[in-house]
Amino acid sequence: MVFKTISSDLMLQAHQKSKTGQLPQYIPCLSEADPQWLAVAFLSIDNQLQIKGDSQQIFPLMSVIKPFVLLYLLEHLGEKLVFERVGNKSSDLPFNSLSQLEIDDGFPRNPMINSGAITLASFLIGKNSKLRAENICFWLNQKSNSKLFLSETVLNSVRSLSNPLNQAIVEKLTAKGVLENPELALDTYNHICCLSGTVIDLVRLGLLLVKGSDYVLLKHYQIVSEIMTTSGLYEASADFAAKVGLPTKSGVSGAVLSLIPEQGAIATYSPPLNSQGNSVAGLWLVEQLNI
Ligand code: GLU
Repeated sequence: MVFKTISSDLMLQAHQKSKTGQLPQYIPCLSEADPQWLAVAFLSIDNQLQIKGDSQQIFPLMSVIKPFVLLYLLEHLGEKLVFERVGNKSSDLPFNSLSQLEIDDGFPRNPMINSGAITLASFLIGKNSKLRAENICFWLNQKSNSKLFLSETVLNSVRSLSNPLNQAIVEKLTAKGVLENPELALDTYNHICCLSGTVIDLVRLGLLLVKGSDYVLLKHYQIVSEIMTTSGLYEASADFAAKVGLPTKSGVSGAVLSLIPEQGAIATYSPPLNSQGNSVAGLWLVEQLNI
């Protein structure tokens, strides 16, 4: 297929758009990112790669890892066990909302919000948080031919400030009997959010969900891509699905991954975020490139 060209003019406009966004303050290294960084990668199912901007810039995936945790557990535990632990319904409240979990009586509504991702992180395989993160990282790199790694620098930064909302979510999940080892669950979650790479690594990961791999069940990547459509951008998911229609996942680092079914994937990186925690320029670029 021939992708739309990522023109210099489009990049310039995206830069302008990004100026309306803000850097997140609750993870120090993300607040120190250069708001001007902007990178886009397009990868087609026949492996044609188009890159533009700061494509060598490394960033943590943060919440963009969530669909891949779901995929990994669907493959390792199966659909039944996974959906006994988390739901598959879209959420109306922010990604780290305790109220959402309270409304749902302690049952995480979906794997794309923090309650669901922390719950799933508790089922990852490995003796400790680091080994769990390294196991899933190895599995993903192998399947997608990417070069993700665990960034200790980002992890130290995440740990340097307390995160009362995630802590409250963990307490609620523990009280409801969802988590057996709350510390390990939260620490594993923090580790996997720090898996890092470039837009090229991210777009390769994305292609795994479009094309699959010999070892990944078709049904599993379809489930993941459906949940990305309904819940990948938190409370902005429904609007984006109606307007753009591509399964998409964002992360608080400014990363965005969109899947173009049967054709390819788009990964973008631009740190300034809108009020819902999604990259301003990233979402705008995906919208433009999908026209
Ligand atoms: N580690 C971040 C948090 O829990 C991830 C959130 C995100 O990327 O949206 O706050």
